[in-house]
Amino acid sequence: ETQLEAIITQANKTDSADNKWESNGKLKETLKSVFKIGNLRPMQLQTMNVTMSGKDCILIMPTGGGKSLCFHLPALLSKGVTLVVSPLVSLMEDQVMSLQSYNVDATMLNAASDKNTVKQVQEAMVDHNASLKLLYVTPEKLAKSKRFMARLEKMYKAGRFARLVIDEVHCCSQWGHDFRPDYKFLGIMKRQFPEVPILGLTATATSTVLEDVRAKSGVHKEVMDDIQKLIDTKFSKQSGIIYTFSKKESGEVTVDLQSRGIKAGCYHADLSAQERSRVHRAWIANHVHVVVATVAFGMGIDKPDVRFVIHHSLSKSMENLYQESGRAGRDEKRSHCIIYYRLQDVFRQSTMVMTEQTGLTNLYGIVAYCVDAKKYNLYLFDLGEVEKKDVTKLCSSVLQILDKASAADSKLTASKVLDAWQGKGPPINRVKQYLREDFHFTPYSTISYIIPGRKANLLCTGVDTVHIELKGARKSMQSVPSLNSKQSQNSSHSANSEQSQSEGRSSKPELVFVNKEK
Ligand code: ADP
Ligand code: MG
Repeated sequence: ETQLEAIITQANKTDSADNKWESNGKLKETLKSVFKIGNLRPMQLQTMNVTMSGKDCILIMPTGGGKSLCFHLPALLSKGVTLVVSPLVSLMEDQVMSLQSYNVDATMLNAASDKNTVKQVQEAMVDHNASLKLLYVTPEKLAKSKRFMARLEKMYKAGRFARLVIDEVHCCSQWGHDFRPDYKFLGIMKRQFPEVPILGLTATATSTVLEDVRAKSGVHKEVMDDIQKLIDTKFSKQSGIIYTFSKKESGEVTVDLQSRGIKAGCYHADLSAQERSRVHRAWIANHVHVVVATVAFGMGIDKPDVRFVIHHSLSKSMENLYQESGRAGRDEKRSHCIIYYRLQDVFRQSTMVMTEQTGLTNLYGIVAYCVDAKKYNLYLFDLGEVEKKDVTKLCSSVLQILDKASAADSKLTASKVLDAWQGKGPPINRVKQYLREDFHFTPYSTISYIIPGRKANLLCTGVDTVHIELKGARKSMQSVPSLNSKQSQNSSHSANSEQSQSEGRSSKPELVFVNKEK
């Protein structure tokens, strides 16, 4: 599955562009006569040089930068057909229509193509006299149609497979458990068609998105109340995306929002291509304001006026967060990314990402970010003095809870540990070295248990101490009785005042909102 990633890395290492082909003047001529464009933009010529000289290449350029021309023009200058793999049917339609308006022979094959079209395209693929220059397909088509693969084989043998283009290539290495595994198939393409140069195209995130982390209530309705309030006031009638953890949750949140009178649509990998396309189009046309989606929604989204991206659960890594929040504010206008963070969600993610090589490291990275960002919120609103509290005893008490459990031959999940703590446990990253997640597999799911970690001993023997920074331990905070009588009231109290602001397990959602607009 990481084969394509390897290929891309290799492509990145290709040396300076071979530019012998550009000097024959055909490029400029075609640029003018076909596309009516006088000058190339930065990186376009370099990219075309590389791909025309048969090398693999990946181009990272902001949306609207002009990536398409980097393969449209080479397609016209090359013998045979350029195969373009694109994740969204609606985006393919747009490109094919635009190419046809320039009298370029371009077409697409998808699940909805009629028999006649399929037949015509298949003939054109191997016909030396055919004018077909660009053929667009979905990743599914490549992965699932053996007949299409056989046809590509013939096209290759006939010397007509000019180039393989993958639009929004970040999808290949980026996504997790939820969607479009078909891109994995692209690694096979390189093996099957070693002579065909691959051109990958991807966009970068913009920097006008403000990020904010909110405590997520354990009560679904309270989270939805909060989101509704945002959408009805701050983001009224504006375009946005809500990312959820699972396909099931996407559906639930969509229905919930609709019942609250919000124009919402749902998007995830289990919906049909037509339904996804319909939602996407309605959203582009602003008939739908909010798309509730899994990470399946995003590739190739270049709607400029997306004002908000809400993460109903935390992303699986900072890289994912940047990618997802980068879908807002493409018009460079101020936009917002809001993450609802709840400790329990960490363990839903961890059981999903644990099989990835750096999955847990990445996840703990974003957990640390969320916790820090919330601390930052508190500073910003000056909610009191910063205090440093020794919470070593508190951490030891967790280990004691685990010891007891172990002695009784039972294992605890994070939420059980939290229960043992009256639901007021500190974020896992603060005790990362002292606790660790232990994964167990059943035929149906992966379970995360909490067990003592590598440094647990140092804590128990008093070699290590743990400190957390607290913002003004407020007197109004009630002290929650500890299960462990040996635990000092003082440390338990301190942790509670922090926790009640951050975890909000069953408390109200945190209402602190960072409004950085000046
Ligand atoms: P991207 O895929 O990078 O988001 P597109 O390929 O869709 O961007 O191009 C965005 C717009 O810029 C299109 O309307 C395209 O015609 C235009 N464009 C691309 N290159 C040039 C150029 N060299 N000169 C003028 N317009 C260009
Ligand atoms: Mg594009």
